[in-house]
Amino acid sequence: MNVLWRQSARCRGVDPAIFYPVSEDESAAEAAKEICNACPVREVCLDHALARREKEGVWGGLTERERRRILRRRRKSA
Ligand code: SF4
Repeated sequence: MNVLWRQSARCRGVDPAIFYPVSEDESAAEAAKEICNACPVREVCLDHALARREKEGVWGGLTERERRRILRRRRKSA
């Protein structure tokens, strides 16, 4: 798998705990989302997480719950 995009990730070197908030509260993900919003590889990161059904953490600016919603919508429209 091509992981070159990770080299441009804005989260490189950032404390991973920010991307894996312990709280279920969606607002706990705001700090991670702010970083993702300015990330040059946001789309590919999100695609990667959706393809792998990543269960935890913020990927591509979306929480696990938000990614599940996208996957559900895709299944319904398939
Ligand atoms: S979108 Fe967010 S989680 Fe994905 S590489 Fe960029 S900063 Fe990291």
